[in-house]
Amino acid sequence: MQDPFGRTIDYLRLSVTDRCNLRCRYCMPLHGVPSLEHHDILRYEELVRVVAAACRLGVRKVRITGGEPLVRRGIAKLVAELVALPQQPEVVLTTNGLLLAEQAADLKAAGLSRVNISLDTLRADRFQTMTRSEGLEKVMAGIEAAEKVGLRPIKLNMIPLKNFNEDELLDFARLTLDHDWEVRFIEFMPISADLDYVSSDGVAMADVEQRLHRLGKLEPLPHEEGAGQAKMYRLSGALGLIGVIPSVSGHFCAECNRLRVTADGRVRGCLFDNCEIDLKQVLRNGGDDAAVERLLAGAVCAKPEKHQIGTGGFCSPSRRMQGIGG
Ligand code: SAM
Ligand code: SF4
Repeated sequence: MQDPFGRTIDYLRLSVTDRCNLRCRYCMPLHGVPSLEHHDILRYEELVRVVAAACRLGVRKVRITGGEPLVRRGIAKLVAELVALPQQPEVVLTTNGLLLAEQAADLKAAGLSRVNISLDTLRADRFQTMTRSEGLEKVMAGIEAAEKVGLRPIKLNMIPLKNFNEDELLDFARLTLDHDWEVRFIEFMPISADLDYVSSDGVAMADVEQRLHRLGKLEPLPHEEGAGQAKMYRLSGALGLIGVIPSVSGHFCAECNRLRVTADGRVRGCLFDNCEIDLKQVLRNGGDDAAVERLLAGAVCAKPEKHQIGTGGFCSPSRRMQGIGG
């Protein structure tokens, strides 16, 4: 699928639930947000129909996300159905890792390629502060289990924030010396107004790069096709890689290849644009596969050329990050 600006759209981020077992301060307010009603969330057969239609239109990579995808029962079965589609899409998943240790083997057996694990601190007390929950040990066990069953390479997503975890940048980077993991530093996105962090709390990615240089030789790696927005580096002699992802300031819109589907069945062309097209109505009212394809293609046509976040500060989309899937 090509959009009106000549971008090839081949990557679908599929949110399978809006629920989450954590309350990260940069993503959700303390008391959470009203959950979708059970019947509003797409059923597995509906999710498979949406992905099948997207694959017929050219999607080749599907990321399962949420909320926390692993709180929804039967994710491994969904993975198995998605990888069995005729186009054999690559299926990956983003998780907070809390339930990964118990599900890693089933996910691998189902055909999941790999996982991104969101982890913002290596310190138990800070983990509790950020997520309003205990669980660092479980996340670490999840990483170990994922590695053991071969969900590789392990990718860790870390959001550097001033006065919270910026002093752990080098600790995270050092993980790559002995592990063939990809540690990805991701720019904080000021997506909702009622959170504990505002845009000035994010650490600029230029600053992150400068600090990484302190660890010794930081070799820039050539941009690989499919690497998305990440600028990649390797520390001299390291087994793993470091990614620096200026999601907001980097203006990567010209390379954006994504579509997003929310748990309640709306397709969005851009994280930072409120235009949504309702797939669920068509799925539940007897619409055929061609109708689903037309709606997905419509979302591709409506994909904005670039996001407006950062130009006027706040973007205030109609949903939160946990409601869209990040
Ligand atoms: N619960 C899963 C997790 O945390 O990995 C998947 C959903 S979460 C919404 C997807 C990604 O969005 C996570 O890596 C998370 O760190 C990121 N995220 C959430 N709020 C963010 C924000 N305000 N700025 C940047 N990234 C954010
Ligand atoms: Fe949940 Fe992920 Fe949001 Fe944290 S970032 S509250 S784990 S959805």
